[in-house]
Amino acid sequence: MSQETESIQKTRILKGKPVAAALHSEVAAGVDALIAAGARRPKLVAMLVGDNPASAVYVSSKTKACRDVGIDGETLDLPRDIEHARLMDHLGELNEDPGVDGILVQLPLPDHLPEREVLESVLPEKDVDGFHPHNVGGMWLDKPARRPADPPSVLTPATPTGIMELLHRSGIELSGKHAVIVGRSAIVGKPMAALLLREHCTVTLCHSRTRDLPSVCRLADILIAAVGRPAMIGPDHVSEGTVVIDVGINRVTDRALIEHLYPGKAKKLARFDSRGYAVVGDVDYTRVKPKASAITPVPGGVGPLTVAQLLVNTLRASRRRQGLDTEA
Ligand code: NDP
Repeated sequence: MSQETESIQKTRILKGKPVAAALHSEVAAGVDALIAAGARRPKLVAMLVGDNPASAVYVSSKTKACRDVGIDGETLDLPRDIEHARLMDHLGELNEDPGVDGILVQLPLPDHLPEREVLESVLPEKDVDGFHPHNVGGMWLDKPARRPADPPSVLTPATPTGIMELLHRSGIELSGKHAVIVGRSAIVGKPMAALLLREHCTVTLCHSRTRDLPSVCRLADILIAAVGRPAMIGPDHVSEGTVVIDVGINRVTDRALIEHLYPGKAKKLARFDSRGYAVVGDVDYTRVKPKASAITPVPGGVGPLTVAQLLVNTLRASRRRQGLDTEA
């Protein structure tokens, strides 16, 4: 391809909504098939401790999404000051309940509760968030995928697994590509590395002590930003033709920053003025987009995939628990 053709090539916008909608329909069909086979309706219980408004919104959107696809979605509301032992009793009951297929513990938990111990007490077969060490270990120990989109043997975290769906369904080839991930959290960066490695990417995982981050990022064929810093990844971090996946969800209240990030975008500013904030990714979308071959927007990119993948995980867990694990 000549340089001229390359420079006029349009950047693909990788939207999460259509992929999420496809996943929702596939789960709804999967639930119908389970019922038609005489099995139980899948059930997810979300444990919500305390009255954190953001957590309540997340949980209600997850349980509503469950109901939309025919999964029973319930919330177990527990008081903020619940004793550790009492919380573990509730968890024990959910673990033992044969009608419950998926348990999710909405984070963050109040400070007096040991988050790690609680997450490790969820039965691995019901761990639809994929945070239990059994599932984390299983994901890393998995053999390399035989075919693209071959599902992992264990339940894996929703956000990175949803990103894998987006990459597959957008026809982005992974085998042999260099994926650079910025961020090494247990919920995004690390599982993202494991999943890309399974699918034959060469993976580099970066963090706050990585030296000369822009140079490392410029080596990427696929760059994944999961940092939690608004627009930190700029054009200096990106080579021509890179696929850029922006996981960041940052609430920005600085009007000058929004003006800088979206020059001339009157609609963005008007929306900011009416709400008092804007949601911005970890990537400087305006300046990175012209260099990227494909890029996810924020909002509307990775965001919708997380809940969709949670539904997929719940259906998988239910199938397995009911002895109907006949995945393609
Ligand atoms: P964490 O805060 O847990 O992790 C952030 C990571 O970024 C850390 O590994 C940290 O490094 C690294 N980091 C911070 N500053 C720098 C820097 N200057 N240079 C290089 N690396 C840096 O965040 P999460 O993984 O939980 O979330 C990341 C973003 O993704 C957030 O914006 C979050 O809101 C969003 N998110 C979106 C989801 C979705 O559904 N779309 C789901 C989950 C998260 P170190 O380890 O050294 O501290």
